[in-house]
Amino acid sequence: MALIVQKFGGTSVGTVERIEQVAEKVKKFREAGDDIVVVVSAMSGETNRLIDLAKQIMPQPNPRELDVMVSTGEQVTIAMLAMALTKRGVPAVSFTGGQVRILTDSAFTKARIVSIDEHRIRAELKAGRVVVVAGFQGVDEQGNITTLGRGGSDTTGVALAAALKADECQIYTDVDGVYTTDPRVVPHARRLEKITFEEMLEMASLGSKVLQIRSVEFAGKYNVPLRVLHSFKEGPGTLITLDDEESMEQPIISGIAFNRDEAKLTIRGVPDTPGVAFKILGPISAANIEVDMIVQNVSHDNTTDFTFTVHRNDYQNALEILKQTAATIGAREATGDTKIAKVSIVGVGMRSHAGVASQMFEALAKESINIQMISTSEIKVSVVIEEKYLELAVRALHTAFELDAPARVSE
Ligand code: ADP
Ligand code: ASP
Ligand code: MG
Repeated sequence: MALIVQKFGGTSVGTVERIEQVAEKVKKFREAGDDIVVVVSAMSGETNRLIDLAKQIMPQPNPRELDVMVSTGEQVTIAMLAMALTKRGVPAVSFTGGQVRILTDSAFTKARIVSIDEHRIRAELKAGRVVVVAGFQGVDEQGNITTLGRGGSDTTGVALAAALKADECQIYTDVDGVYTTDPRVVPHARRLEKITFEEMLEMASLGSKVLQIRSVEFAGKYNVPLRVLHSFKEGPGTLITLDDEESMEQPIISGIAFNRDEAKLTIRGVPDTPGVAFKILGPISAANIEVDMIVQNVSHDNTTDFTFTVHRNDYQNALEILKQTAATIGAREATGDTKIAKVSIVGVGMRSHAGVASQMFEALAKESINIQMISTSEIKVSVVIEEKYLELAVRALHTAFELDAPARVSE
């Protein structure tokens, strides 16, 4: 008998009918003899609705109170699913994060799980019940309700699977697996049979929101067998694995990720003296703003230009700080641009292949797409481009790296 943790995302529990369908599915697993812990998200759109409501009271809601509010979305769906199961003769019980002591730190709206008390869950499983746990939420040491950041139910699922040493953590969603890129942007993207934790982590960090980054970190750290599947269609889905044996058939690039979440800032005519990078980025990090990509130009006339990217939410704040810095250090000007996008190619196969970056640049050049910034690591190359070319760039790269699915003659 296996212990399986199943997580169902927002669209999979988006209507009463879908919740009934999820209950049917869980019932089948239960009847096959497995112990089941189900994690559910709020009904799709609900978390956004709650955040909007809070913003009508105050534009930047108090984080503690915001968590009290947004965590209610999941409290509704756990009860609904438990009822739908009970109605079908499947004993079930629902729990909020606090009730099963999903202990987190106190970083409201982006809390990290510290520990989970699995005793209550185990006792319920032993009594033959399906345990339905609210995703996305926890409780800190003082008993405050916390949430785990957008998409956090994935992390609840994986963390529960790790704590319970489950045989598998299944993430059910509205796509039938992890694709070479977001199938909403490239319709002929291909489902991957498997992808390594390392690659999935890069994909998630670089913008593929099919799994929350922390859920992948967690799964890698505790070696949780993790699979992404379609909620209502049969199929093998995508397995996230440790195995990264490089075989001959392995593609160089496994996937393409992208995001529109960043903004670019530039400071020009900076006197090029030792410590200049610190003078520019010190005040930014002192304001708790994370910097992603950084480029410093070769200096000429003893002055240099310096460009970096931050999250778009931090853009205004960062630009003001940079303008002050420019005045203090005698730079010519500070400017910014929010209409940028980052496109990244990811693959462990890159380690053993030279020239991947130039192949990427060539594909973009063919489409006359200008590259504004570049950053590389062992298994990824990222470029910043003008936002309006994002989809074109992703499609061109998808074709250039031979990721397109073979054309289907008929459906
Ligand atoms: P859920 O509500 O179930 O958590 P999400 O919307 O968070 O679902 O994640 C599923 C979505 O992720 C898909 O509908 C798809 O558009 C998007 N996505 C982005 N990148 C990928 C990718 N590489 N493979 C599959 N889906 C992706
Ligand atoms: N309901 C939360 C969100 O919309 C958590 C999740 O769905 O994973 O972000
Ligand atoms: Mg999600």
